[in-house]
Amino acid sequence: MAYIEPAPIRDKSNPFESMMERFHIAAEKLGLSEEVYNVLKSPTKEVKVHLPITMDDGSKQVFKGYRVIHSNILGPSKGGVRFDLGVHTDEVKALAAWMTWKCAVVDIPYGGGKGGVKCDPRSLSAGEMERITRAYTVAMKDVIGPETDIPAPDMGTGPREMAWMMDEYSKMEGRTIHSVVTGKPVVLGGSLGREEATGRGVMVCAIKAMEKRSIDPASATCAVQGFGNVGSWAARLLVEKGVKVVAISDKSGAFYKADGIDIEAAIEYRNNNNGTIEGFSGAENIDPDSLLTLDVDVLVPAAMEDVIDANNAHDIKARMIVEGANGPVSANADKILQEKGIMVVPDILANAGGVTVSYFEWIQNRTGYGWTRERVNMRCERFLKSAFEKVFSATKEYDVSMRIAAYIIAVDKVAKTYMFRGGF
Ligand code: GLU
Repeated sequence: MAYIEPAPIRDKSNPFESMMERFHIAAEKLGLSEEVYNVLKSPTKEVKVHLPITMDDGSKQVFKGYRVIHSNILGPSKGGVRFDLGVHTDEVKALAAWMTWKCAVVDIPYGGGKGGVKCDPRSLSAGEMERITRAYTVAMKDVIGPETDIPAPDMGTGPREMAWMMDEYSKMEGRTIHSVVTGKPVVLGGSLGREEATGRGVMVCAIKAMEKRSIDPASATCAVQGFGNVGSWAARLLVEKGVKVVAISDKSGAFYKADGIDIEAAIEYRNNNNGTIEGFSGAENIDPDSLLTLDVDVLVPAAMEDVIDANNAHDIKARMIVEGANGPVSANADKILQEKGIMVVPDILANAGGVTVSYFEWIQNRTGYGWTRERVNMRCERFLKSAFEKVFSATKEYDVSMRIAAYIIAVDKVAKTYMFRGGF
């Protein structure tokens, strides 16, 4: 084939290279033309800004802000805004592309985008966070919009930041525009069920995967890495299905209890302890790296990219991995896990519950009519189950892993849409 292969992946993976490696495999399986390959691999727009912010002590600090629109072929681009010290161009580019594939896999009419600000939210006051968020919104005024590019929460941001973004954008437009961001507080046009939606999707995929492997959830064990919004909701909803969550962790450390951790107690502890489980007494302290290699049925990495790479993939003992985070398994690790027969439910399917309910939020904002929690949850589960089945059948049709099957479905859908729309 005539298209240029992505550069070989270095030992310490780069998320954009990991994304490209999978895209390349899917493109080859589909026999994508060179023209379409080149269109789909190139982000539509990359914007970088510098935000001078007055800090609480009166000093000025300059923060780097990013927004990448990977694709708007299927519709307006959609994707979160990440506040984290690790934010850099290649990460935002990879995350934006993952949003394109994610929206295509679950069949919602969006392209993919992502944004970020390089900062440490834990060391910033609420006032500093507000000024950064509002400055970012002003700087991105010509990029974002309810019909063009719709941000949402990601690592380090939540409903509070979305409220500031919506307010600042509305002020600039001179009228209230709810649908410019999703993941807002419910009183401000946020959707019921959005907060737990990503965790719900993880749970739905884990239960489906167990069904395919004939594992009874009531006798299954699970380890969850990351105890933020995604990890804690996934853990809570899996426990509701009878799964025993034996290990949890966050940036401060990890905990293990063979007969199952009381997740409600851990969530309550975290909520009253500055958002961390540091010092939790309901389970035994373990080495955070060892959580990933526990002998459990289901491993849910719900923290960040590249936590499972070629260095530790050989040691994974879980029967299946359900990716709550974006990109937690590097492309190099994919092959090792596949050889070991470990089923990996990929991020672009497993964590798509969040953007699915974002779509429902956007619909509710545009029609001015709020849905019940039951309707949101039921439709979210329906979208995820149907996407899971489609991906699972594609594994058989193409004889590939769940990850490559999901990319094949996504790339095929975006490619076909591009062919109808055409270019210049
Ligand atoms: N940040 C989330 C994700 O990575 C949600 C994006 C959205 O709702 O637009 O899927």
